[in-house]
Amino acid sequence: MAEPLFNRLCLVGIGLIGSSIARVAKKRGDIAKTIVVTTRRAETLQRVRELGIADVVEADAARAVEGCDGVIFCIPVGAYADAMRHIAPHLAPGAVLTDVGSTKGSVVRDLAPLMPEGVHLIPAHPMAGTEHSGPDAGFPELFEGRYCIVTPLPVSDPAAVEKVKELWRRCGSMIETMDPITHDKVVAIVSHLPHLIAFTICGTADDLAEETKEAVLKFAASGFRDFTRIAASDVDMWRDVFLNNREAVLEMLSRFSEDAHAFGRAIRRGEAGFIEDRIKRGRKIRRSLIERKQA
Ligand code: NAP
Repeated sequence: MAEPLFNRLCLVGIGLIGSSIARVAKKRGDIAKTIVVTTRRAETLQRVRELGIADVVEADAARAVEGCDGVIFCIPVGAYADAMRHIAPHLAPGAVLTDVGSTKGSVVRDLAPLMPEGVHLIPAHPMAGTEHSGPDAGFPELFEGRYCIVTPLPVSDPAAVEKVKELWRRCGSMIETMDPITHDKVVAIVSHLPHLIAFTICGTADDLAEETKEAVLKFAASGFRDFTRIAASDVDMWRDVFLNNREAVLEMLSRFSEDAHAFGRAIRRGEAGFIEDRIKRGRKIRRSLIERKQA
């Protein structure tokens, strides 16, 4: 077995993503010698103890990060700045601080100014998830065969960047490197806009009259059901994603709205060719996802 990548790795936050990292680290043994977990609620800490997915469970994040050579933020992106202010004086010199947040521009904006001298900030985003949350939701295979996007800063230490990439390789992921702005645009279209549409379509259905709503639920097995799965996602996480990727989401929403209106106009005018073309493009994209094994 390879040498553990980290001597002492602290997970700040232990929901779906944090607990999946803890589980894969426990299973492999070559990610960290010691896994420290900290989170804000006593109930969650207690659950982590019961699940046995950490070596050390510590309520105070500042104490938890002491002596750690790796720290991973696994909390909603809107909570980063406060968490960082609390732990910054306790971070060990030379430590690598990374994260799993779904936005990257906001992470650099919020964390870079608070980084102590000698601590390396290397943001990352595993493109893997489910609609479930909390420490019971995680599983060690979550990241297998999925992309992890690493967004180093121009000043980032190459050895620290490599360490974060190796962490994700050991979790089973494929690595892509990007700048935070490109990352935020890409995820706005592939993840954030689809969630916005799912939350909206469920709201629209909910606004319908009582009897119709029943019919909606009764016949949900068609396309609507897939939207409800996405719409079951965590409130805090998604509120923070929309508020922290505002520009990219608004840009994609406005492009989408134009295209949706064009589709509507084609339906009104009976333009069968336009409608067929849209459906064919959808089928083509689905086929290429299957070919890339990302379906
Ligand atoms: P989760 O299952 O809901 O867990 C969230 C964790 O963050 C819990 O430990 C929770 O602590 C803690 N937390 C919540 N609000 C907090 C606050 N205001 N201050 C401090 N701690 C707080 O979330 P998750 O799905 O693992 O998401 C974690 C991160 O991964 C987010 O940044 C998200 O954008 C990113 N991400 C998520 C997915 C996905 O599909 N879910 C995919 C890729 C990346 P308590 O339980 O103690 O309250």
